[in-house]
This record gives sequence, C-alpha cells and structure tokens, in this order.
Amino acid sequence: MSLFVQKYGGTSVGSPERIEAVADKIAKFKAEGHDLVIVVSAMSGETNRLIELAKAITSEAEPRELDVLVSTGEQVTIALLCMALHKRGIGARSYTGQQVRILTDNAHTKARIQEIDDTNIRGDLAAGRVVVVAGFQGVDENGNITTLGRGGSDTTGVALAAALKADECQIYTDVDGVYTTDPRVVAGARRLEKITFEEMLEMASQGSKVLQIRSVEFAGKYNVPLRVLSSFIDGPGTLISLEEDNSTMEQVVVSGIAFNRDEAKVTIVGVPDTPGAAARILAPIGEANIEVDVIVQNISADNTTDLTFTVNRNDVEKAKAILNSVATDLGAREIKTDAKIAKVSIVGVGMRSHAGVASTMFSALAKENINIQMITTSEIKIAVIIEERYLELAVRALHSAFDLDAEPVKE
Ligand code: ADP
Ligand code: ASP
Ligand code: MG
Repeated sequence: MSLFVQKYGGTSVGSPERIEAVADKIAKFKAEGHDLVIVVSAMSGETNRLIELAKAITSEAEPRELDVLVSTGEQVTIALLCMALHKRGIGARSYTGQQVRILTDNAHTKARIQEIDDTNIRGDLAAGRVVVVAGFQGVDENGNITTLGRGGSDTTGVALAAALKADECQIYTDVDGVYTTDPRVVAGARRLEKITFEEMLEMASQGSKVLQIRSVEFAGKYNVPLRVLSSFIDGPGTLISLEEDNSTMEQVVVSGIAFNRDEAKVTIVGVPDTPGAAARILAPIGEANIEVDVIVQNISADNTTDLTFTVNRNDVEKAKAILNSVATDLGAREIKTDAKIAKVSIVGVGMRSHAGVASTMFSALAKENINIQMITTSEIKIAVIIEERYLELAVRALHSAFDLDAEPVKE
C-alpha cells in the first residue's frame, strides 16, 4: 500500500463526464488499497474566463481581489469530484487551500508555499477517506486567499507530496508524459521514459508548460519522486529522476527542445559606453519587479553601444515607461521594443560532455534561413531569440537535427 498524491489538470476535469472518469480512476487506486490525496485544477478554460471577467471590469484589479476571484475555479472541481466519489461509495472530503492550511507568503498571484499543516489530511487518510485539495491556492498569515501563479496546481501537488512524504507525486494531464518537445507542435515528438530534474527544470524555465517550474524546483529540493502521466490512457508516463542515466550505451546530447512566446525585446540604442550604464538601465527594471531574461550588449563602435534585453510581454510597456527617463539621463538615442519574438532552447545534460552542439544548432537554423537575434547559454542549455513567425519551423528543424524524431513506423 502506498500514499500517492495525484494531481489532475484542467482538461482532465474539464466536464462532468471527465470528472466521473477521474472518480473511476481514483476508485480503482482506492480498491488496490492505496492512500490518496488528490489535487485538482479548475475546469479547463475556467481560470482564463475568470481573468477575462476581471478585465471586463478593470485593467487594474488589485491582486488580492484577483486571487479571491481566480481561486473559485478550483473550489468548484473539489466539490464536484467529491460528489462523484461519494456516488461510488467512496468516503472523500474536499479542502480549499485555506482549509488545509497551505500557508504562503503574501505575494498575491504568485505566492510561494511556506508551510503545510497536514493535520486534517492525516486525519482523513487514517479514517480511510480520499482527500481532495484545491490546487493553485493558499492563504497568507493574515487569512488572505493567495494563488501560486499559472499552472500552480502542479506545485500544490508536489508540496503536498513533500509534506506528506508520499511515495510518488503523479501529475495526470492530457499528454502521456514529458516529450522531446511539445507534441502539439512536432508530431514526431517522442515520450521520454525518464528525464533528470535538472533537465526538467531547464525545460520548464524555457517554456515547456507541462510542469510549472516551481513544482520541479520543489520536487528537486525535497526529493519528491515525480511522474507525469495521462489521465486519458494508461501507461508508465515519464519519471523525473534525480540520477543521470549512465546506463544507456548511447548518451543523448540533447534531451528536449523548449520554446516560449511570452517574451518581448527591449533595445536601448546609442548608450554611452561608460562603466555603470548597464546597471543604471537594469536596476530600475529589477526594482519594478520585472524579470529580465536574455541580455545582449553590442561591442561599442563610436563609444556608444546598444543594450538589448527580454522581459515578459506583459511587462514590456511598463519597462519602456521606466526607461524613458533613464535613457534621457544617460544620453541614449532611442528605446525600441519588439514583441514578435520567440525563444527556442535545446536542453540536455549530455551537452556538458559534447563539443559542437552550438554549431549544429546554428547550422540547422541557418539552413532554414532563420536569423538568430540573441543567444544565451548555460551548462545544459542553448537558447536563441528568433522572429516569432519562424518558431515552429525552428523547433521542427532542431528536433530533426538532434535526432529526436520518432522512428517512422515500418510497414
Ligand atoms: P494541465 O491542464 O493538465 O495542467 P497543461 O496544459 O498545463 O496541462 O500541460 C500539458 C500540456 O503541455 C500538453 O498538452 C502539451 O501541449 C504541453 N507541453 C509543452 N511542452 C511539452 C513537452 N515537452 N512534453 C509534453 N507536453 C508538453
Ligand atoms: N487553474 C490554474 C491555471 O489555469 C492552475 C492550474 O491549472 O494549475 O493556471
Ligand atoms: Mg498545467
């Protein structure tokens, strides 16, 4: 008998029928004798619908009220799932984040979990009940409802698994595992049996939204066995493992390709090439809580340089407004922005021990006539910024260049 924390995402609980199917699945695990803590997302589309409702009222909703609003989506699904379980004669109890007491900091809309009180959950498990917890939400020390950022139910699942020392945290979703790249973009993408935490962390941070990045961080930190599986079809899914797999004869260089359309580029043209200029530009951006991703500074030609960096698209206007006065003070010529960009990244621990990965990547893009605007690397990743319209072409070209395509089925 094991203790599993199972998280079911939005599509998996997207209709009454889907909720019934999840209840059937839970009933099967329960019949096998397992203890189960279930985390559910809002029904698919619901969180977006709620955000749109807020926008219809104001573009400047207070984050506290946004959290009160968007947390309702998950409250619906916990109750419906419990009803479906009761109908099957299974004891089950629903909990909002506040009722469990998932304590977070007070950073509304992107709160971090600080502590989980497991008293209620342990009590229910001891009484043989299935515990159903609302994903994505918690409460701060003053009793305000908080949410954990988009995709945050993954993190609720992993945090509960860590707190309860569960045997496995199982993320049930609409794909049957982690693929070499998003299978909705590359038809030939392959499911990975295993991926290391380090690689999964890079994939998530570079835009693969199959797992929220914080959930992977949490799982790595607390050593939570984590698996991604389909709620629609049975199968082993993908295990996110701590160890690098050295057993296979042929070591892969690139494990996966991630991409992201959420960024925009800001360029300050004609910045005087003096010490401290970059700091003066980027300090107010950081102070405004705007995350900067890729940064490139050109070599100075006429004692001026251009500094380019990327931020989330939602922050680009704010960044520009902040920089207007800085640019004038510095004597820079102009600020340009471009939201029609995308980032494509190749990820793999095998890169550490292989030369020539960058040149393979750049040649593959060159062959498709795709211009690289910016480049950034880490030990296990190379990421490039390109024009958004070439994104899918780039992902496909790289998928083939690094031999990731699935073997065609032989007749
Ligand atoms: P859920 O609602 O269950 O949380 P998400 O939509 O958040 O599901 O995540 C699952 C989706 O992630 C898939 O439908 C797929 O399109 C996307 N995805 C992106 N990159 C990958 C990848 N490398 N492997 C698998 N799925 C991926
Ligand atoms: N419902 C939230 C979202 O759509 C949280 C989640 O599904 O993980 O982002
Ligand atoms: Mg998700």
